[in-house]
Amino acid sequence: MGYERALGHWQKLFSEIYGQKNMAMAADQVAQRLVEEVGELVHPINTFNLREIKKSIADLLPWICGLATRLGIDLEEAMYHKYCEHKPGKSYGSLDMFALIGKKAPDVLEDWQDLLKESFKEENANITPPSMIAKLVQDIGATSRSLRHNTEAKALADKLAGVLGWTLAISNKFEINLAQITWEKYQGACWKCLAKPCRCTSLTRVFVSHASELESDREEVISIIKNRQIQLDVIGFQDISQFTQERMTEALREIAGCDGGVILLGSKFSPNVYAELLFMLAKYDPRNVWIFVKGKNTETRDPMLIDLIEEMKRSRQVHTYETPLDLQQKISLLIQDRMEELRQPIY
Ligand SMILES: [Zn+2]
Repeated sequence: MGYERALGHWQKLFSEIYGQKNMAMAADQVAQRLVEEVGELVHPINTFNLREIKKSIADLLPWICGLATRLGIDLEEAMYHKYCEHKPGKSYGSLDMFALIGKKAPDVLEDWQDLLKESFKEENANITPPSMIAKLVQDIGATSRSLRHNTEAKALADKLAGVLGWTLAISNKFEINLAQITWEKYQGACWKCLAKPCRCTSLTRVFVSHASELESDREEVISIIKNRQIQLDVIGFQDISQFTQERMTEALREIAGCDGGVILLGSKFSPNVYAELLFMLAKYDPRNVWIFVKGKNTETRDPMLIDLIEEMKRSRQVHTYETPLDLQQKISLLIQDRMEELRQPIY
């Protein structure tokens, strides 16, 4: 089939490659990733570096499709509502717009690109590429806002169709065939690990879970992960001894947006930490989870926690530490080793 695919096929394809990963993220985190990808386009566009523009713009369709799927939006339908129900553009107001592309309706993604090219000829001739980027970012922003305000599904779909519309308009401006360059980069699988579904593991954001008596150790861990040598995003909640449902929901949401975790266990058994630990073990690559136990003395340790640690030791690496400095050094080494491992190409 190659790159001549209907929009619905593209959406299905990227859902097969990245669907699982995207479902693990909150929808606005997926939108955030899309904004980051658009950000990658800014410099090449400002410097008119066509090779880099092609490389970066090829990453937009997977995220647009991913966000659509994450929100339960049928992109093809959304495009149809936005661009076909009311005749868009000034250029061909009264013409049968499909005649412009010689078809009854857009069939493959390329047809949508041609259709938008013809219908917005006049408008797009007068707009500069940096302004087009601004419009694109605006529409992603509008999509995110609609998400937060629970806007009705139709309005959300309209905004997302606008995001794809601007992506196609930018492609037209640089005479890039979006379907073709996206296919060249992805070839039906993840371009990085070459697998479908994608098997890439990354380590970008670490969640720190801790027993409440280890508050100061938690701060040590956070500062070491943020520092110059490691520089990862890190998140952890203060005093978690107070169990509230809101707090737990918030913590699980944050864990879903991370790809690594550090767990600090002390002498008390905490159901919160236990729940967070299980959630991290289920979600993350096992090599991205570091379990730390403070002290070797088991006399003061809750028997339930002793059982849990013994259980963990069977299938996981469990580390012990004595002092904050000891903890810092061990974490720093383990995370840096793991980051080094992830830098190696996957075949
Ligand atoms: Zn991959």
